[in-house]
Amino acid sequence: MCSNGELQMFAEVNCRSHYNGKVMDTSQQKVDVNILLVGAENVGKTALTVRFITRRFIGEYGDIDWIYYHSDRIDGRDISFNIWDSIYARSPGASGRITEKQLQWADGFILVYSICDRSSFNVVRQQLQHIRHCKSKIPGSVPVIIVGNKRDLQHRRTVSSEEGRLLALSLGCGFFEISAAETYHGALLVFHELLDLIREARAIKKETHGIKGIVRTVSAVFGRRRTE
Ligand code: GDP
Ligand code: MG
Repeated sequence: MCSNGELQMFAEVNCRSHYNGKVMDTSQQKVDVNILLVGAENVGKTALTVRFITRRFIGEYGDIDWIYYHSDRIDGRDISFNIWDSIYARSPGASGRITEKQLQWADGFILVYSICDRSSFNVVRQQLQHIRHCKSKIPGSVPVIIVGNKRDLQHRRTVSSEEGRLLALSLGCGFFEISAAETYHGALLVFHELLDLIREARAIKKETHGIKGIVRTVSAVFGRRRTE
């Protein structure tokens, strides 16, 4: 799918261990996923979103909070991506806060920083902790991809690949370094990997509910027998 040159434009941490890269969702229905993009301003959130949807890099995007809709057919399945490209909140006391509404809405998160902006890496660290605190404290249980963008600006790099990779590993997230400006494939990989993580998380949830249902049925039957 990618040439070697393009493959060199990103680095990846794959956090799908126990499913060996295979998605466990077996239903043939259309898959609908809500993806929230967060991160400091100017890191390339909109560039990444627009790259994925249109395959193009425009350059200047303005500052709007917007939910984009994009549908695709992947592995024989219709997929609807709802992508919330958020803007970084600057109000006093609420810097970069992800709202309750956004947390409820999202099935998965893309946290973007710029490899030439250390403060944007710190924002991702804080936002990640907030997501983990609100959604689940178990590493890897919330579908998250961390993206170090602007990989084309190597001469201005202030965040090493290792730092990004380690942060992702320590919290069980996926990780890519990409250049939204230079290639489409990096953007494609980010969204497709997150889609896989969301589908795995749903499959696990379904399994857990199934087991809980069996336990409830069994205890209802035995509970009734005991009182009979
Ligand atoms: P946002 O505020 O996070 O949505 O950032 P934007 O997508 O609006 O991008 C901010 C600026 O960074 C714009 O001038 C983009 O052209 C630029 N930009 C975005 N991605 C890249 C990239 O991969 N490389 C370079 N060199 N510039 C980028
Ligand atoms: Mg933007």
